[in-house]
Amino acid sequence: MKYEAVIGLETHIEIRSKSKMFCSCANGSGAPPNTHVCPVCMGYPGVLPVPNRRAIMTTVRAGLLTECTIAKFSKFDRKSYFYPDMPKNYQISQYDLPFCEHGRIKLEGTGLSGAPLPDKYIGITRIHLEEDAAKLVHSAEGSGVDYNRAGVPLMEVVSEPDMRSADEAYAYLTSLKEIMRFGDVGDCDMEKGQMRCDVNISLRPVGQKEFGTKIELKNLNSFRAVHRAVDYEIWRQSELLDRGEKIRQETRGWNDDQGESYLMRTKEAAHDYRYFPDPDLMPVVFTDEEIEAVRAALPELPAAMRKRFQESYGVTAYDAGVLTADRELAAWFDASAKKAKTPKLVANWISSELLRLLGEDKISIRECRITPEGLAELTDVISSGVINGKIGKEVFAEMYATGKSAKTIIGEKGLAQVSDSGAISSVVAEAIANNPKQAEEYRAGNERVLQYLVGQVMKLSKGKANPQLVIAELKKQLQ
Ligand SMILES: [Zn+2]
Repeated sequence: MKYEAVIGLETHIEIRSKSKMFCSCANGSGAPPNTHVCPVCMGYPGVLPVPNRRAIMTTVRAGLLTECTIAKFSKFDRKSYFYPDMPKNYQISQYDLPFCEHGRIKLEGTGLSGAPLPDKYIGITRIHLEEDAAKLVHSAEGSGVDYNRAGVPLMEVVSEPDMRSADEAYAYLTSLKEIMRFGDVGDCDMEKGQMRCDVNISLRPVGQKEFGTKIELKNLNSFRAVHRAVDYEIWRQSELLDRGEKIRQETRGWNDDQGESYLMRTKEAAHDYRYFPDPDLMPVVFTDEEIEAVRAALPELPAAMRKRFQESYGVTAYDAGVLTADRELAAWFDASAKKAKTPKLVANWISSELLRLLGEDKISIRECRITPEGLAELTDVISSGVINGKIGKEVFAEMYATGKSAKTIIGEKGLAQVSDSGAISSVVAEAIANNPKQAEEYRAGNERVLQYLVGQVMKLSKGKANPQLVIAELKKQLQ
């Protein structure tokens, strides 16, 4: 490869909040168009914005989660532009004094291609807070504007141009989403528009320090699309450079169906936003104590959790990844593992049985009838030999369906494993009497037939006999 790609990402993330950024309208998708609106978010003259303090503190939390420095003095600015999605003809944003600056996110694991990632951090230039624009809706009947989204708190996370490949961009976005979800900042569902991402990408000859001319890529609807678009742009720009052509600074869109980027606008058409401080909004000032209070309440992040799950519960790296794919699932496992005598068994049951059932029923762990304590109890009765693994599956299915505890089900159905030596001895004797041919073969030295006899005993005991005791008793009686 003659060229090195230089990639930076600008990611917009909708903050999860009850109300909008500067008015008390509800913040939520799915409502009929223009039902979450008021004079403030519709940009009527004479109204005053009131900042959403929680959204501001959520942005501070996002900054601390990504190791940013929090500005003790910041302000809101007006970004002027004229477009139907912006009722005021300006957007309240932050220009030169954002809430958060100079953070970083560590790349983890492998990229989308499966190749290992370099051991490195991606710098966060800044995180600022702004209001979202309305949504333009185009249909057969014509075009309209839905102002429900206008004024929703929106965070912009600007990365340093530290990424060098599609895999690194993909991994950065994956980590960013994970951090924001675990940090209760937002849901970051790209399909719902809760997370949107623009890519800046340029190429330079390997070894050169100066950046090449950058292209901005827009209309990226998924992390996978980002990966494809970056790979495509690296190829496209390499071809141009190889032919001795100059890269023009331009904004390009991504057509995911055709797998190619297309010209949207050149630099000449770039906006001049004429930023100036919003005279309706006071500067925002934080004390050290306020910032430290947010820091003290930060949740544990998934990367740290994966490490802890492996170290203190002995789960595999793979299971740790599965268990931390979702914040609620991770907390659920953590609560269960803390109670269980063998936490690794809890992890096994979740990844093999529970997630499969939840997936089949399309429900989340929050709606699951089994409690973390319930699963801990089930693994305990299995590991202590009260029931065997096979009966465990039956009990588990019943727990999942009814929400009853393992011990209740075992009691009601009489499923407890038979470890009583007298009972086992008589059922073993019965199995031997029923299968004289196999018993003779075993005595003649064919040890493999023992498994068959164990199966017969288990059948007679309806699966309840303790398999270890059965084997010992069989060997004894067959001598
Ligand atoms: Zn409103």
